[in-house]
Amino acid sequence: MFRRLLTLEEAKLVIQKHFEAKPLGVEEIPLLEAFNRVLAEDVVAEIDIPPFNRSTVDGYAVKAEDTFGADENKPVKLKLCGMVCVGEKPKIRVEHGTAAEIMTGAPIPEGADAVVMLEDAERKNGEVYVYVAAARDGNIMKAGADIKKGEVVARKGQLLTAREIGAIAAVGRAKVKVYKVPKVAVLSTGAEVTEPGKPLAPAKIYDINAYSLSAAVQESGGKPVYLGVFPDEAAELEKALKTALASADMVVTSGGVSVGPKDVMPTTLSQLGKPGVVVCGIAIKPGKPTTVAVVDGKPIFALPGHPTSALLIFHLLVRPVIECMAGRMPTKYATVKALASTRMFPARGRKTFVTVKLKEESGKLVAEPVPMGLSGAITTLLRADGFIEIPENQQFVDEGEEVMVHLFKSEKACIKS
Ligand code: AMP
Ligand code: MG
Repeated sequence: MFRRLLTLEEAKLVIQKHFEAKPLGVEEIPLLEAFNRVLAEDVVAEIDIPPFNRSTVDGYAVKAEDTFGADENKPVKLKLCGMVCVGEKPKIRVEHGTAAEIMTGAPIPEGADAVVMLEDAERKNGEVYVYVAAARDGNIMKAGADIKKGEVVARKGQLLTAREIGAIAAVGRAKVKVYKVPKVAVLSTGAEVTEPGKPLAPAKIYDINAYSLSAAVQESGGKPVYLGVFPDEAAELEKALKTALASADMVVTSGGVSVGPKDVMPTTLSQLGKPGVVVCGIAIKPGKPTTVAVVDGKPIFALPGHPTSALLIFHLLVRPVIECMAGRMPTKYATVKALASTRMFPARGRKTFVTVKLKEESGKLVAEPVPMGLSGAITTLLRADGFIEIPENQQFVDEGEEVMVHLFKSEKACIKS
């Protein structure tokens, strides 16, 4: 098959031209299942939170002015007039000269405007000795102090973490509208590739890509649909791809896109439907044979088999598409400046990504390449902290030159020291 290598930017534009990545729709789900989903509505508080003035301590509800002048040597003596428990509407009223025992979280009874902490009072024979003067509203959380009625507690587009989910529960919502999760069919190819968990026959290797890519799909906000490993055989592959298209919103495959005699993925993809293959090779290293097709309005990303290449290309090309379909903002990956530990060359005419490890040498951050020559090695990614990008038209990056390292961590995941 004829291949004209597109630049990475051209490839992205061509994909966008044939496939508009946008949210797939909205569904209402139980709040208990909403973790890591993206909110598709503004959640507005319909009540004040807390809904009533409540005590923030265990102690005695009093009229503040009754305690004025009280100190350790001159306690104020008040008559105990009853008790206010949590979860109950107070049945008593605090009159001048009296105090009601109250629990943390219980409503402030009528007449009281402050709470004296248990530790600042002493109870003797039905009377309460207050040793500290209370300020008006002291130890009281006012209705609406946390969330005001009408306030937006979580916004459309927010990723729901424990904190947002807590805030939504606080206003009494048990269901939320979220964006649908895009389903991404994942399949591997190659006669040598064996599913983990099965015995490994001679000349076989375990499937890394279906697993690493499925995890990457989840990280991007998609739901992976694992379809298995298929041989490099056009008819079987075609059947598998048709099943994949029918069962998912997008397909990600790995292997079989190079120019070897068994690399039947591009021709198989070109026979699946319209518009078919839209990207057949990208001028990047690694990832040159990456092939992308669009069939029946669904994209198929056929990544190279080398596990490190597959994951890097996923990161560059596939992740942003899934994020968009999931209603997420594209993840911003943190960058740091470092000095190149050695001279690095790009592959001729190709934008080159060099995986690097960061080290500190004499107080300076140094980026040392983790060789990708063996780009089949998944451990490259385990050892690397990120990658640097060398443009196709640059001759080389010199030793000691400042480079920008794109970290494999999102900005949010980085703790700034
Ligand atoms: P290919 O792109 O099919 O030519 O594969 C390139 C290299 O990656 C070969 O060494 C394959 O054995 C290896 N490879 C392909 N698919 C996988 C996979 N799913 N898991 C691990 N290694 C793979
Ligand atoms: Mg193969």
